[in-house]
Amino acid sequence: MNTQDYIKLENEYGATNYKPLDVVLTRGRGVWVWDVEGNRYLDCLSAYSAVNQGHCHPRIAAVMREQAEKLTLTSRAFRNDQLGPFYGELCELTHSHTALPMNSGAEAVESCIKAVRKWGYQAKKVPDGQAEIIVCENNFHGRTVTIVGFSTEPQYRNGYAPFTPGFKIIPFGDAQALEKAITSNTVAFLVEPIQGEAGVIVPPAGYLKEVRRICTQHDVILMTDEIQTGLGRTGRLLDEEYEGIEADLTVIGKALSGGFYPVSAVLSNKEVLGVFQPGDHGSTFGGNPLACAVARMALRVLVEEGMVENSARMGEYLMVQLRRISSPYIKEIRGRGLLVGMELHKEAGGARRFCQALMGEGLLCKETHENVIRFAPPLIIQQDDIDWALERIERVLTTL
Ligand SMILES: *Cc1c(COP(=O)(O)O)cnc(C)c1O
Repeated sequence: MNTQDYIKLENEYGATNYKPLDVVLTRGRGVWVWDVEGNRYLDCLSAYSAVNQGHCHPRIAAVMREQAEKLTLTSRAFRNDQLGPFYGELCELTHSHTALPMNSGAEAVESCIKAVRKWGYQAKKVPDGQAEIIVCENNFHGRTVTIVGFSTEPQYRNGYAPFTPGFKIIPFGDAQALEKAITSNTVAFLVEPIQGEAGVIVPPAGYLKEVRRICTQHDVILMTDEIQTGLGRTGRLLDEEYEGIEADLTVIGKALSGGFYPVSAVLSNKEVLGVFQPGDHGSTFGGNPLACAVARMALRVLVEEGMVENSARMGEYLMVQLRRISSPYIKEIRGRGLLVGMELHKEAGGARRFCQALMGEGLLCKETHENVIRFAPPLIIQQDDIDWALERIERVLTTL
């Protein structure tokens, strides 16, 4: 079968909720992936930062194979010998008190929403059914009905009503707006340190620190969604480290498994997760031994192989070099670590055609919103690969 055969099959039988680039991948190793025709590409998306450790990392693959032959799923009705060590290593690494393992990112965000509501009623004595959670414009926290209900992106929410009430939306990057929006019923504020899906929007310096101060002062739980920014993507283990703050709840996912398996977790620095009593919340696959074994190794290689530091170093290099490209299409280069957005002027005719052209040059990138190209390669990328990419990016941006 060739590329067109695979595409035809997908189009014939698949639900139509995606419009991928017409490349059919069959193999990946490190920063590179290969299509069914044998063409090689540099992956500049890393599965939305789920493959931070690089494709098919051999140490994670080995653990996955090993664990798959030993024990995969027990449900939480019984204990397993991977969960305790996973908790210990995860909490020590992230300086958390407690963790709650789930599967997808959206599930972990939903778990946070449940936890802070319960916390609000029990600890803050908010009248039953009145808990409010504040979120930001242009947020992305996943695709469940509750989560898209507080999205401001029409395409994410249109047609899916009725939605879960209890959310208030304020502008991103505006700490004063948060302070103004808080009432005695506010239980939590949910925010991404950098809005990835919105187009790599970096808030003003000091924003998170100010948000932390406001939340503490008003007894509001600060929840950060680090599903995309976390685990080294922006050059620190968690992006919040840049502002020297600790959120009360932090959600991680994606790279927590190195892209092998859906694993997410809620990290808690406060007694928020303590509101859950046995039976209050659960997941059949959450915390299963296969997921725990894979996540333990995914965290281990991230740290032991210096990927976080490499992300900071290579991200800086990439950003500086991208800024040197002289193209009338480029409006702004922004980001942190290896989460970099290139915003194009409206006149450029949309980012999609540039992504298409980059694919022709051997670079897989994805547009986010109309006019932003995101560059987020695996965190193991080396300078010669970045130079290889830059040559092609410059060619496309100056000749298309
Ligand atoms: C990807 C992502 C999610 C959703 O994760 P899923 O695993 O797709 O449910 C939530 N928040 C952010 C910031 C993300 O990047």
